[in-house]
Amino acid sequence: MTASPAEVRARARQFATEEVAPFASQWDRDEALPRAIITRLGELGFLTGPLPREVGGSGYDNATFVGVYEEIGRACSSVRGFLAVHTGLVSQCLGDHGNADQQSRWLPALGTGERIGCYCLTEPGAGSDVASMTTSATRNEADDTWTLSGEKTWITNSGIADFAIVFARTGPGERHRGITAFGVEVPSAGWRTEPLGVEPLGHRASDHQRVLLDGLVVPDSQRIGDVGAGFGIAMSALDHGRLGVAAGGVGIARACLDEAVAHARERRQFGQRIGDFQMVQADLADIYAETEAASALVERAARAADAGAPDTTRLTSAAKLFATEVAQRAADKAVLLLGNRGYGDGFPVERYYRDVQGLRIYEGTNHIQRLIIGRDLVGKDPERKR
Ligand SMILES: Cc1cc2nc3c(=O)[nH]c(=O)nc-3n(C[C@H](O)[C@H](O)[C@H](O)COP(=O)(O)OP(=O)(O)OC[C@H]3O[C@@H](n4cnc5c(N)ncnc54)[C@H](O)[C@@H]3O)c2cc1C
Repeated sequence: MTASPAEVRARARQFATEEVAPFASQWDRDEALPRAIITRLGELGFLTGPLPREVGGSGYDNATFVGVYEEIGRACSSVRGFLAVHTGLVSQCLGDHGNADQQSRWLPALGTGERIGCYCLTEPGAGSDVASMTTSATRNEADDTWTLSGEKTWITNSGIADFAIVFARTGPGERHRGITAFGVEVPSAGWRTEPLGVEPLGHRASDHQRVLLDGLVVPDSQRIGDVGAGFGIAMSALDHGRLGVAAGGVGIARACLDEAVAHARERRQFGQRIGDFQMVQADLADIYAETEAASALVERAARAADAGAPDTTRLTSAAKLFATEVAQRAADKAVLLLGNRGYGDGFPVERYYRDVQGLRIYEGTNHIQRLIIGRDLVGKDPERKR
């Protein structure tokens, strides 16, 4: 029997409260997540959550699964970020675009957490402008393989990955139309990861590395989708991931509200609870109102995705933009409301404050979300030649 959305959320909340939140600050300091937490995500059915049952998924609809992202994001953005990449960008991408052989070969182990997935799109010279990527894939007709060379950067999970979706240029000079997606099994000769060489501001328990591809040979049977279809595949995967990021933003905002309210009730200054000062109440009210609005927008985008509505991409970008900006304002207010406690790592608000910046950048910066929304609203200029 299918679990109800409320039951799935309750399961996620219990997991996040008991198995994630108490350890999140320590994982942040350790700069790593324990493998056991990934196995637990698999046991709970969250690694296959939104995938259809036909390909071994839990069959949750998006409106249900955003509850999982939100509850986990409330406790730890590194775990939620892992999930948005592994499940949203990798497994769901295979579910949408992989052929039957690829799905049966890769999805079961991704679903249990036995294999970890990463999504390799960004390059040092190609961030927002994905179509300018230079990683190349050259066809070897003789043995029906491709040779991949180039560099990807800031790739979440790449240092612990067993499987990667790599986007590479197969048609030089063709921008969007010259990109193709490949499934890469790791380790493979020609695949190497290196540390970024910088200390990340947030998501410190996540694994982010540079991926160096040097003559990596991939059989054509591991090409995902048609030659030249990679840009569209990358963007459709981002629609899944961005929904997870948006819901994660709601989670951070709720966590900030929880911390701020608890502190406002407890801390006394000038002979009264700081929560009895109207200025403090106004901040709490703003966080609350914006968080509820963000939550409603995320749910609306999730329902559009479930219905296959034509405005799904626009709504998803709006949800990612709005929810992550709300989370940023909530974290900013929570740090202030906690005073010097908010400035140290004895309370989680400083972690939320650092982590939320990542949500505003990855899976398309919030400038890019505005571009997606604006372009969709205005539409293509019929008089423009190209
Ligand atoms: C924590 C973290 C995890 C990540 N994980 C992954 C991952 O798993 N896989 C992956 O492929 N990538 C990943 N990334 C990379 C991320 O997707 C890119 O950093 C992001 O897309 C932006 O690219 P950029 O950093 O090169 O910024 P740039 O594209 O150089 O942009 C710099 C600034 O210019 C603005 N800008 C650029 N173009 C425009 C425009 N046309 N209009 C207005 N403003 C513009 C941007 O909004 C930004 O403010 C991750 C990044 C972070 C921080």
